[in-house]
Amino acid sequence: MIKILLKPGKDQSILRYHPWIFSGAIKTIEGKPAEGELVIVYSDKNEFLAIGHYQIGSIAVRIISFEKVVIDYTFWKNKILQSYQLRKNLGLTDDNNTNVYRLVHGEGDGLPGLIIDIYNNTAIMQSHSIGMYHVRNEIARAITEIYNEKITSIYDKSEATLPFKANTGAKNEFISGSGQPGEVLEYGNRFMVDWIEGQKTGFFIDQRENRKLVEMYAKDRSVLNMFCYTGGFSVYALRGGAKLAHSVDSSEKAIELTNQNVALNFSNARHEAYAEEAFNYLNNINDPYDLIILDPPAFAKHQSALSNALQGYKRLNAKAMSKLKPGGILFTFSCSQVVSKDQFRQAVFSGATIAKRNLRILHQLTQPADHPINIYHPEGEYLKGLVLYAE
Ligand code: SAH
Repeated sequence: MIKILLKPGKDQSILRYHPWIFSGAIKTIEGKPAEGELVIVYSDKNEFLAIGHYQIGSIAVRIISFEKVVIDYTFWKNKILQSYQLRKNLGLTDDNNTNVYRLVHGEGDGLPGLIIDIYNNTAIMQSHSIGMYHVRNEIARAITEIYNEKITSIYDKSEATLPFKANTGAKNEFISGSGQPGEVLEYGNRFMVDWIEGQKTGFFIDQRENRKLVEMYAKDRSVLNMFCYTGGFSVYALRGGAKLAHSVDSSEKAIELTNQNVALNFSNARHEAYAEEAFNYLNNINDPYDLIILDPPAFAKHQSALSNALQGYKRLNAKAMSKLKPGGILFTFSCSQVVSKDQFRQAVFSGATIAKRNLRILHQLTQPADHPINIYHPEGEYLKGLVLYAE
């Protein structure tokens, strides 16, 4: 393996098990590693630190082991098995009411650059690093061996998530099995998931527990689900006894999927879906709602976009708050990794002052347990939510 030596002092974060090495921390590279190649990392005093995947970019190495071990098929299988054991402990691998969950959550599972989502008997793998893409067949074999016949198809969806400069020629394709987009169950609710054409791996699995909470608050309330995508929150709100539910998304396709999912679960739902831009819709509301959900796409994908993103959250929340009835409830989220919990809360507070609403925090929400946060990698806590009560 090619050896990388760090600059003096740059071993500190690795000694605290942070899984990334930034390019600026590197003193020398002994050789010329290819993208995705395994490299071995040493301190400037030549002490072993870690083994990781090399990549050209600001994160130069993603650590996969802090011990001197052989990285072979057994290593990968053990890692996948550990992830599987956690989901088994969470009751997700054998649940009659829920068969959609995340099996591997990147750094949160000690596998930087790798996402695996389970949709009933299909696994969707998504590599965000070249190193993980190179071992996709080993990973797929491990999934097959661990699940036996429970997983019949494995689809690799890495074409859009790998750094394009690396020129891998990656195509989205089945590694094993085949199949059409299918139906999944989440807390007994039915959803059609198009993992081939859909956003991310097809479904926003990370909102499962928060949707459940919406169900609890929905009874006899008029509900607005902004940025509905496949209508997850709407289906839960309707099951919870919402007086009516309106779903809004700028994408026509999302509205189609939402209508389809509502119809899968209810024959006569008090539901309407609108393909409209969020602010357009909010600006034109005459009849305020009892419950509003705001789950927008990440406003900031990079640090450079942070301040604009915070402005965006402030404006959006202020607008939504002004459309809530007295006694109304707002579920508001941010999935931008670069926006911290405190920054998001601050933006929502600023929104409240603009809307001149008196608000109380009822719940502080985050991602579910199958999206665990590696304690040494706080950046992994990306989903933040507040449930607010408006007087
Ligand atoms: N709440 C969803 C996930 C939301 S993803 C769920 O639980 O599954 C974000 C969605 O916002 C996408 O479907 C995207 O089409 C939509 N979107 C992005 N920009 C928008 C805008 N300006 N107005 C309305 N919808 C928008």
